[in-house]
Amino acid sequence: MFDTHELGRRPGAMQRLTRTVDAPADLGIAGVIGVPEGAPVELKVRLESVMEGVLVTGTARATAEGECVRCLEPLSREVEADFQEMFSYPDADDRNRGKTADPVDDAEDDEDRYFLEDGLFDLEPVLRDAVVLALPMQPVCKETCAGLCSECGIRLDENPGHHHDAVDARWAALQGLAETVQDGEKDNMGGAAPGVDKKQEK
Ligand SMILES: [Zn+2]
Ligand SMILES: [Zn+2]
Repeated sequence: MFDTHELGRRPGAMQRLTRTVDAPADLGIAGVIGVPEGAPVELKVRLESVMEGVLVTGTARATAEGECVRCLEPLSREVEADFQEMFSYPDADDRNRGKTADPVDDAEDDEDRYFLEDGLFDLEPVLRDAVVLALPMQPVCKETCAGLCSECGIRLDENPGHHHDAVDARWAALQGLAETVQDGEKDNMGGAAPGVDKKQEK
């Protein structure tokens, strides 16, 4: 929560804040990469008083943790997220909309709009959106990461030259199994064939 009382409501007033906060839960892309809950998030924020509310501009810095999408090794990444959001005065909003506003439109607008409550605003949803946008959707430990061997799952970067023979042991075993099944079918057919031959002889 940030307080705008010191800033005041005179348009043009400005205030700069630097604050370190604990990361809220789920700050990041679920299951991919994110800032661990409680990790420090460094905020540099500029509050600017305008006619309809307070314009908040800032940067958040934190360390995100996740894993490489190719080799699944843990990785951490410095994330710097810029944000800018308008927090409107609730009374200014009433004045602008008038009484004829369609209530359906109002409901849709409210989802995208933020308001000051008693001069306070909650930066968390803004911070969350900004951090998600700043994070990589497909983080890799390094751009050249070769990932895992598709056959045995070994890390290819740690095992240069790693390869498998065209037919490895497991395939050989499967092929042996297939041949056994085929032999069995042949035996059944072989047993039936003489019976047919006998009928034809009669
Ligand atoms: Zn990797
Ligand atoms: Zn392998």
